[in-house]
Amino acid sequence: MYDLIVIGSGPAGEKGAAQAAYFGKRVALIEREPVPGGACVNTGTIPSKTLRESALHLSGFRQRGFTQAVDLTMKSVTIDDFMYRKQLVLEKEWARIDENLRRHNIDRYQGTARFISPTKIAVKNALGEEMLEGSVVLIATGSSPHRPSTVPFDDECVCDSDTILQIGKIPASLAVVGAGVIGCEYASIFAALGVEVHLVDARSTLLPHMDREIVRVLLGEMQTRLGVTLHLACEVQTIEKCDDKVSMTLRNGTCIVVDTVLYAAGRSSNVADLNLDAAGVKTGNRGLVLVNENYQTSVPNIYAAGDVIGFPALASTSMEQARVAMVHAFNLKYKTKVASLLPYAIYTIPELSTAGVTEEECRTKSLPHEVGRAYFRNNARGQIIGDTKGLIKLVFDPDSLKLLGVHIVGENASELLHIGMMVMQFGGTINAFIDSVFNFPTLSDAYKYAAYDGLGNVARKRAAAMAVQETV
Ligand SMILES: Cc1cc2nc3c(=O)[nH]c(=O)nc-3n(C[C@H](O)[C@H](O)[C@H](O)COP(=O)(O)OP(=O)(O)OC[C@H]3O[C@@H](n4cnc5c(N)ncnc54)[C@H](O)[C@@H]3O)c2cc1C
Repeated sequence: MYDLIVIGSGPAGEKGAAQAAYFGKRVALIEREPVPGGACVNTGTIPSKTLRESALHLSGFRQRGFTQAVDLTMKSVTIDDFMYRKQLVLEKEWARIDENLRRHNIDRYQGTARFISPTKIAVKNALGEEMLEGSVVLIATGSSPHRPSTVPFDDECVCDSDTILQIGKIPASLAVVGAGVIGCEYASIFAALGVEVHLVDARSTLLPHMDREIVRVLLGEMQTRLGVTLHLACEVQTIEKCDDKVSMTLRNGTCIVVDTVLYAAGRSSNVADLNLDAAGVKTGNRGLVLVNENYQTSVPNIYAAGDVIGFPALASTSMEQARVAMVHAFNLKYKTKVASLLPYAIYTIPELSTAGVTEEECRTKSLPHEVGRAYFRNNARGQIIGDTKGLIKLVFDPDSLKLLGVHIVGENASELLHIGMMVMQFGGTINAFIDSVFNFPTLSDAYKYAAYDGLGNVARKRAAAMAVQETV
């Protein structure tokens, strides 16, 4: 009898299992794949971020503009060149997870898990079926790409975000359907490699939850620097394979003929194999497992965390949800909730990152706000590395100067964001940047100038208001 059975070895499963085991619980972890790590390590986060680095490196993208004379672009990048580093990183991640589970004395079972009752789980693999029993169960089975029956997937010319990792050659042209985070990231990656890329979405606005000014910089870079052709507010009508090409017709009549289509529009929870009815666990739309604020399902001893419960469906939050779930399950008096302020990063080229409220949100909610901006073109480090389009934008309360939001586009945006996020986490003001000394030259130093700009904007508006009062 185990204290805990975890189903799935992605970020939620690994961290949930390790957290309970760290506090002395007897833990079993079931994974249906031969390797650990889930979508995060094998098909999602880690491969896509590694391919981004490979594309930037192999294409000489970052080095462009460093010399007038030498073109550093590698002329013929092969698929093996492109995938090489991804494989190395994956192997290191598998070893890291193996070691983490071993160090915490977690028993591992390879096979597909299926509920027999709320405490009994059958694990089936090629060798047969084994029965496990646990007082607590954590469902961390993640999600898979949504594959509508109208899309002729063949996983070579028409792929989803899993099978794009198995293509046999780098296509000359690619159409990405779905301009969400995954679609925008892959569109940037392939465009950086020199592939002709079309990005198609039925919505008219790209990444609607992000600050519009930041997204405009991305759009400009994607179109001018990467040469991506955007088809926004364009619904896909048909996708057809013809010989070795794929023909895509949009509702506005446009026909796009490409070598490869990446269909990246939506994901569904991995619950089909779990036999949730036998345990009485309730699900919602697209199989999302329904949970309360403690990540407890409709059955009190069964918890769920990560992509299987839906938004925000990130590796970062999946780990935290699982830790919080285990604290509740075993009354550990430790981390009782996931932080309310979450960072988001989109690893496009350039990167975007955000935390807190946007200027648009402040306007919609009538929140008093002011902004301060610093452009990387005015920053020595920005000039050195050749990132002249980057921008840090601060949103803050004009009276208290309390920082309300940070929005960044440019090199290392996902890392830089944490500086602003920590100030917000501790309820700080933009004076935190003015009062700090930053290494020089660094992009971080731009925070200070964004804060000065913000103070200047407050002062200008106050002066203008005073002048109006005096003339009345
Ligand atoms: C292309 C792409 C890029 C992404 N980029 C980022 C990013 O940059 N940053 C970020 O934070 N997030 C990113 N994500 C999201 C991130 O990968 C997921 O949020 C994260 O992997 C979810 O973790 P999880 O543990 O819930 O599930 P998963 O990682 O999906 O793991 C679930 C595991 O459960 C196993 N399983 C399923 N059913 C069973 C069963 N019945 N029995 C046994 N085992 C089972 C699966 O085999 C899998 O190994 C990205 C996702 C994709 C697809």
